[in-house]
Amino acid sequence: MSLIINAFYTNKEIFLRELISNASDALDKIQFQASQDPSKLESEPNLCIKVTPDKDTGSVTVEDTGIGMTREEMILHLGTIAKSGTKAFMEAVSSGADMSMIGQFGVGFYSSYLVSEKVRVVSKSNDDEQYIWESTAGGTFLVWKDTTFEHGVLKRGTKVICYLKDDQAEFLESDRLKELIMKHSAFVGFPIDLRMEHR
Ligand code: ADP
Ligand code: MG
Repeated sequence: MSLIINAFYTNKEIFLRELISNASDALDKIQFQASQDPSKLESEPNLCIKVTPDKDTGSVTVEDTGIGMTREEMILHLGTIAKSGTKAFMEAVSSGADMSMIGQFGVGFYSSYLVSEKVRVVSKSNDDEQYIWESTAGGTFLVWKDTTFEHGVLKRGTKVICYLKDDQAEFLESDRLKELIMKHSAFVGFPIDLRMEHR
């Protein structure tokens, strides 16, 4: 992860494509579950992705109404550097592969640390309470049950909040985000709602 964070790599914009791709995958998963059991959609029937820049907190959030993650799933899927793709990806990058190939190694989520000093993931699965995962990428992470709901109550799905590094403020501009969505996420099969920055 620190390889990614400290990377002298200019094409940092790919993080948005990776987060939207994860959102789209999560929506595919709940749609598939619902095709077997329509009641799975009852918690939130609307399937969509929302991208929200917030200049007050210096963050950009990618939110979906997909399958969400239980506490266990957050620990398992976000919390470990011991994922098989990590080593393969690091070796590939060391021998000159392009960072933008990160998604192909199954570690696309980590690309959020190209632009973020801290990432917070709020998630609600049909099978669990709302949980928060947070990491400043030092190799450790925290997971706790959401009790304050400072990021709102999710009916189902996931919010990935990227607290941007000081020099990554371009991703707080909705024009820039729009350009990136058109460029890298044009064929995503769910509506993407881009919110305007305030102030
Ligand atoms: P990949 O998408 O190739 O599996 P990532 O590093 O991008 O690898 O994501 C790791 C895992 O984290 C996903 O497989 C999924 O289980 C979980 N995950 C990430 N983002 C989301 C999300 N928005 N909703 C639900 N699960 C997610
Ligand atoms: Mg992914």
